[in-house]
Formats: sequence, C-alpha cells, structure tokens
Amino acid sequence: MRELNYWLTTVQMPTPPAQPLPEVADVAVIGAGFTGLSAALALAKRGAKVVVLESETIGWGASSRNGGMVLTGMKLGVNKLVSMYGRELTRRMYAASLDTIAAVERIVKEEEIECCFERTGHLEVASKQSHFDDYAKQVEVIAREFNHQLRVVPRNELRTEIGSDIYYGGMVDEMSVGVNPAQYVAGMGTAAMRAGAQVAEHTRVESVARASNHGAPGFRLNTSRGSLWARNVFVGTSGYTGAATPALQKKIIPIGSFIITTQVLSDALARELSPRNRQIYDSKNYLYYYRLTPDNRMLFGGRAAFFPETEQTIRRSAEILRRGMIEVYPQLRDAKVEYVWGGTLDFCFDIMPHAGQIDGIYFAVGYAGHGVAAATWLGQKMAELIADGKTDNPFTEIPFPGAPLGLYNGKPWFLPLAGAYYKVLDWIS
Ligand SMILES: Cc1cc2nc3c(=O)[nH]c(=O)nc-3n(C[C@H](O)[C@H](O)[C@H](O)COP(=O)(O)OP(=O)(O)OC[C@H]3O[C@@H](n4cnc5c(N)ncnc54)[C@H](O)[C@@H]3O)c2cc1C
Repeated sequence: MRELNYWLTTVQMPTPPAQPLPEVADVAVIGAGFTGLSAALALAKRGAKVVVLESETIGWGASSRNGGMVLTGMKLGVNKLVSMYGRELTRRMYAASLDTIAAVERIVKEEEIECCFERTGHLEVASKQSHFDDYAKQVEVIAREFNHQLRVVPRNELRTEIGSDIYYGGMVDEMSVGVNPAQYVAGMGTAAMRAGAQVAEHTRVESVARASNHGAPGFRLNTSRGSLWARNVFVGTSGYTGAATPALQKKIIPIGSFIITTQVLSDALARELSPRNRQIYDSKNYLYYYRLTPDNRMLFGGRAAFFPETEQTIRRSAEILRRGMIEVYPQLRDAKVEYVWGGTLDFCFDIMPHAGQIDGIYFAVGYAGHGVAAATWLGQKMAELIADGKTDNPFTEIPFPGAPLGLYNGKPWFLPLAGAYYKVLDWIS
C-alpha cells in the first residue's frame, strides 16, 4: 500500500511558467483549488489582471484529493435548512446547488477538460431504519418545494443499486456526477492560465493589509516571494486557511478526511458492488463515502480520524477504512488496498458554505465535504460580485457565525470531543 493520492497517478498537473510576481493586480486570489481557479478563470475572461497565489502547487489542497463526487444538495438536509433559513432562502440555496452541477458541466465542456465527467447519479444509503423513514419525507419536500425529483429505493430493491445488504434502503438523485478531481482541477488551472490569469506556485501569502496605491484603495499582500498590491483580494483557502487571514481562520474548523483505493477489480465484481456506478454515501454523521474509479477500483473514504492528514492519521485511517469497506462489502475481503491519502475539509460552525467580504477581503469557504461543485460555482459567483459589484448568491446573505462565546483561535482543540460527540450521535439517532 502506498501513502499516495491515487488520482495524482492519473494526471500531469500543469506547470505555470516561472515569472516574477506582478507589482500590481486587479485581483489577488489566494489558493489554487476549485474556488480560487474558478474565480480566476471567470475574472480573467472578463479582462481583469489576476494573480493566483498558491503556497504549494495547482490543486495541492482538497481539490485533487477528494472523492470526485459532484453532488446536488448541501451537507445539511432540506428540513434542517428550512428550519434555519425559511422556505424562500432555502429554495434559492437548493436551486443554487443544482446550478453548481451545471456550472461544472459548462466549464468541462467549454474548456474541454478531460476528467471522466459522468452523470452517474448518487445514492444515499440509510444506516438506520429511522434514517430510511425520513427519505420519503425529504423526497416529497424536495419535489414540492424545489421541483426536483429524487427516488426512494426500499430495502428489498437495494440490490439493484448496491452489492451490500447492510443498509435499510436508499435514496437516488440521478443528477449528480462523478469526475476525476485531479484531472478537473488540472484542467481548470490550464483554463485559467489560458484566459490570462498568472498562477504563482510556491508563493505563500503571509499577510494581507489595507493599503492604497496612488490614491486607489486596495491591499498589500506580503508573500514568501515578495510583496504586491491588489485592488481586491479573494480567498479560497478552504481547510488550509491560516494566519494570513486571521478573521476567516477563526470561523473555519479544519477536519481530516481520508480515502483508500483498492487494486483494479474485475468488471464483474465492480458491477456487483455498484451496478449503476453511483456516487454513494451513508446517512451517518461519521459517514463513509465510496464509488468506483473510472478504472474499476473501489474508492472508499471517511472521516476515519478527525485531525487533518499526517503520516500517523493516514496510516491509522487506512486500517479503519479497510475494516469499514469490508463491513459494507465483504466481497472485498481479499482485495488489495493500493493507495491511501488524506486531505482537509473546511467546516463552519453552522456546517454551511459562506461567501462574502470580511474586513474588505472577499472569500468563499465552508464546503463541509460538499465542495467540488459548490467551490466551482461560488468561485464564479464571487468573480461576478468582484467585477460587477452584484450577484445573485444566497450564501452571501446568511449570517456567518463564529465559535460559541468566541472560544476559538483557529486551532481546533475540541476535535476529539467533536469526534466523540458525533460517534455518540450515530449510536443514538
Ligand atoms: C478526502 C476528501 C474527500 C472529499 N470528497 C469530496 C467529494 O467527493 N465531493 C465533494 O463535493 N467534495 C469533497 N471534498 C471537499 C472538496 O474537495 C473541497 O470542498 C474543495 O476541493 C475545496 O476547494 P478549495 O479550492 O476551496 O480549497 P483547496 O482545494 O483545499 O485549496 C486551497 C489552497 O489554498 C492554498 N493556501 C492555503 N493558505 C495559503 C496561503 N496563505 N497562501 C497561498 N496559498 C494558500 C493551499 O495550499 C491549497 O492549495 C473532499 C475533501 C477531502 C479532503
């Protein structure tokens, strides 16, 4: 087994030309993942002078490390959303979530990105009877309020969807998509550069402060490769948000998520495990998510350790995930696990995505493991806001809570407690 991101073995990441940093830019984007690159692409296409500052390389963060599940909906269920925000705002958020998938499809087509984009649909499987009972209600609300059709799959028909007998039933959304995320982010990087954005790799932003330039208001950014001035700053640093943007860092909890992939499986076994090649996840808080890769490996992920990726958490997660995978699919008992890796998710305190401005700096964060499509879409929407001064984006309209009592400085000391809390919730709810 290699401690390596399998997706990276399938792609050649683009290498930006070595260039000095510009002295001045219209927009400095921090982070070269889906959020930052999607914004940079949209801004460059509108003629803005954009520089993307990335402390590592294109796609180094969660954008190349994820499951590649391009999913409808949000992390929180619709009933919870209605109770938090009311019907009208929830309706707009849900419509936005459907539009996020269209945004990915548009970029893939327009920019001719080869990333195994396939409309496989997703399958949520119920780990408890009570979770399954709730599916019918959700399907009814989503059809009535949001005019979108999902389908409940009772337990006795579940074998048409998944080669596992441990679940109480499922819910299918045919609109969701699977991609190879590393190929997608690589293609987005190439597209942004082709449109005229400069991507500066190995350039860590160390601080951002308001500063004027010949009387124009803006920001001075100090980086590991020198400083520059930008009229606007857009932050897309997700779970890797750090001390350069302290106000944002305090609102984000970085949480580890880990993935294993097996050896290539026979066609027959792959079809038995996932007859319709769905993007699958279960209904627990401490959930597993899994799918087949385009070359027929089982990719199996979960929050096996709550802390972000280190050699230890990755190694420990590999064993936990392998056990989880065999519980779901005893057929994989003898399958070799060939790759394991981890990445960091960004959770806000309300488990919602947020976008807008903080201290004058634009941002989009808080994807909670639901970011492939949402980050693409929010990047575009924030580009629109920066360029035109307006956009239609419900995620800029919701309150952005900080930690209860302000007891958080960006170092998540409470993660073991949170992990234990969610495990208990999974037993009792
Ligand atoms: C293991 C795993 C599985 C996942 N599975 C799915 C899935 O199947 N479906 C789904 O929808 N979502 C999934 N996600 C979530 C999804 O990958 C993320 O929400 C999305 O990639 C976020 O993109 P981003 O561009 O905002 O951030 P990232 O891709 O994390 O990029 C942030 C970048 O900012 C850079 N950076 C940070 N600080 C600085 C600084 N000071 N200066 C310069 N650069 C900086 C980092 O180096 C990094 O490259 C998963 C995430 C993980 C980790």
